[in-house]
Amino acid sequence: MPRSPGRTGTAWRRIRTRVLAESRTCWICGHGAADTVDHVIPLSKGGDPLDPSNLRPAHGVNGCPVCGRKCNSSKGANLTAPAPRASRAW
Ligand SMILES: [Zn+2]
Ligand SMILES: [Zn+2]
Repeated sequence: MPRSPGRTGTAWRRIRTRVLAESRTCWICGHGAADTVDHVIPLSKGGDPLDPSNLRPAHGVNGCPVCGRKCNSSKGANLTAPAPRASRAW
């Protein structure tokens, strides 16, 4: 099983809950209702996985209810990629 430092365990869950309790504004798209926490400096670049100053709220797999972006997963890939079409009709 591959190790995923900082993404598992009680410490991560606790810090994640704390960050989301302080703010739910996604740092990538600027909308509210963020449901996960993203690392400002990626762990692969030496970012601290459990430092609150390296963590920001972001939209995870459920995507942003306003713009539909899955900010956390879309970041590293291609920031200018068009948002996937929402299945909502409004
Ligand atoms: Zn977002
Ligand atoms: Zn958004």
